[in-house]
Amino acid sequence: ETTLDIQAIRKDFPILQREVNGHPLVYLDNAATSQTPRQVIDTIVDYYQRYNANIHRGVHTLSQEATDAYEVARQKIQKHFDIAHSHEVIFTSGTTQSINLVATGFTSFLKEGDEIIVSAMEHHSNIVPWQMLCERTGANLKVIPMNLEGELVMEKYHELLSYKTKLVFCNHVSNALGTINPIEEIIEAAHKVGAAVLIDGAQAAAHIKADLQALDVDFYTVSAHKMCGPTGVGMLYGKEEWLKKLPPYQGGGEMIAEVTFEKTTYAELPHKFEAGTPNICGGIAFGAALDYMNKIGFGAIAQYEDELMQYATEQLLDIDGLKIYGTAAKKTSVISFNIEGVHPYDIGTIVDKLGIAVRTGHHCAQPIMDFYQIPGTVRASFSFYNTKEEVDKLVEGIKRASNMLL
Ligand code: PMP
Repeated sequence: ETTLDIQAIRKDFPILQREVNGHPLVYLDNAATSQTPRQVIDTIVDYYQRYNANIHRGVHTLSQEATDAYEVARQKIQKHFDIAHSHEVIFTSGTTQSINLVATGFTSFLKEGDEIIVSAMEHHSNIVPWQMLCERTGANLKVIPMNLEGELVMEKYHELLSYKTKLVFCNHVSNALGTINPIEEIIEAAHKVGAAVLIDGAQAAAHIKADLQALDVDFYTVSAHKMCGPTGVGMLYGKEEWLKKLPPYQGGGEMIAEVTFEKTTYAELPHKFEAGTPNICGGIAFGAALDYMNKIGFGAIAQYEDELMQYATEQLLDIDGLKIYGTAAKKTSVISFNIEGVHPYDIGTIVDKLGIAVRTGHHCAQPIMDFYQIPGTVRASFSFYNTKEEVDKLVEGIKRASNMLL
């Protein structure tokens, strides 16, 4: 049993008090985006009310206050993910931009015949940029297959690795299935053949505190909106040696040392990758979100979410005809399922009438749906502010939908 006071935690989230279609909101779409606690909302309001100013260039007080707060947020991210240098933390608009920054940067490092490896359970944002990179360079994309349980077939991964492999990409946690992937093994094996590794931490970061130095990963990406922060901001971690080698992603203000029409020199890290006015308030609020979650504690969060997952899995499997996709031994916070003979979209629509928010569809991971030969799933995804009572309401709702539709 959890030691967390979930009812007290719920009071931090104003949105959880609202009603949807005449019912108290049951928010189970946390894998798409998490809700925002008052502490983070207050940080955003405070920024715009007290010290909204552009950063890094100004001598005036507001600009200095905004710059300080933004850089403090960078240090909070550094500390949270156990990163060696704060200049290895690049603020981006989120995971998608982080991945595109790396994929674009690698264009000049790859040649025809090189190989890059992705997993079969990637989000489209960790597939498409690499396909585009392959088109630009003539490199080939190889795929680590998965099994019916929703786990990567690691023997096949080891077979795919060779001296031709230059890059490996995998998510830490699958947003469609909840599988926690064996990233330690993936990273270690890739390094043995001299390949760099990017781990997409978008879905993991709210549930697992990744220690990036211990992982020895080359790149790691996160979106703040999945971990109680605002949308439109995230981070790219890159090892200093890689970030020094990679060319800038975008040109503009902030990212230069000196500009003349003959030649421009680029700014030092991290500014080289942060062209233009960033999402200043978002970055500061990202820091506040990490403070909030760390105060609750990632150990306690993981333990409670496991409790919820176990409870929800048992309750759901009690429903006639319900099948869960992804039954890996190591899973976190996502249950993807269907009811035989019912379209997931119809279930989602009916439970919404009861105030229950779940996601339906392919979850930006169409290859997984093709693998299971289904159009999509219903996905319930949990956060530490969800309760067993909410799971009961979900189960009731699904039963009702199923009775109506069958
Ligand atoms: N990868 C994974 C595993 C995700 O879950 C998501 C968000 N659904 C993304 C990448 C993309 O993140 P964003 O849309 O915040 O860029």
